[in-house]
Amino acid sequence: MRKKIIAGNWKMHKTIKEAEQFIEALNDLKTNPNTEAIVCAPFVYLQSLVEKTEGLEVSIAAQTMHFENEGAFTGEVSAPMLRDIGVSHVIIGHSERRQYFNETNESVNKKVLTAFAHNLIPIICVGESLQQREADETLTHIESQVKVALSDLTEEQVSKAIIAYEPIWAIGTGKTASSADANEVCTHIREVIKKYFSEDVANKVTIQYGGSVKPENIEELLSMSDIDGALVGGASLEAESFKKLVEAGNNAS
Ligand code: PGA
Repeated sequence: MRKKIIAGNWKMHKTIKEAEQFIEALNDLKTNPNTEAIVCAPFVYLQSLVEKTEGLEVSIAAQTMHFENEGAFTGEVSAPMLRDIGVSHVIIGHSERRQYFNETNESVNKKVLTAFAHNLIPIICVGESLQQREADETLTHIESQVKVALSDLTEEQVSKAIIAYEPIWAIGTGKTASSADANEVCTHIREVIKKYFSEDVANKVTIQYGGSVKPENIEELLSMSDIDGALVGGASLEAESFKKLVEAGNNAS
């Protein structure tokens, strides 16, 4: 059975004090063996949060990274640096990175390959714009994003990857995809993986939904056949709300 993975993406929010208080509030967080909780924090807090979560049932992730291991890339952070401080996961290709920082399917693929080369689990984001959904291009767009993002990966790597389906029109807008629409695309992602890899890999890969997920709607989303968790922005900023999301993961797994 696939795990339920609940990841909170803080984006560019919180002071160090707020970040540490959040983690302190997770002291009593319990995940069952089939649920994982992840917090994706800004770079500057990662080391402190990795230390503070030692012994807790939550992992710490970065929100992006560079695809090169080192070099003259002012302002960037590499996969070896993240591993060095104990980070376990990294978001790759979030739609905000694609929109504001020129990330492309090709750079996403390079980053995914580098992440695996350094034992970081990538949370790979894909999703269509409203215009693409209205033009009935969602499934073809998602197929090309997934295909390129996963190029040159081994079956074993794809089995361990987390793919987050995040319709751009649902991110931070309060508009959630209906559970049926979200599941349709997640099922399609599994079919694409079956086509380019194998059925076994398609059955193992974790596929999250993201886009205005909150404690009030997560239960229904997680009840769908191909949705294995959630990537949550706004509703992951308060510890109590994040704990409710993880609790829903426990109940669904
Ligand atoms: P949201 O963000 O939950 O605030 O819509 C989701 C995301 O961007 O990962």
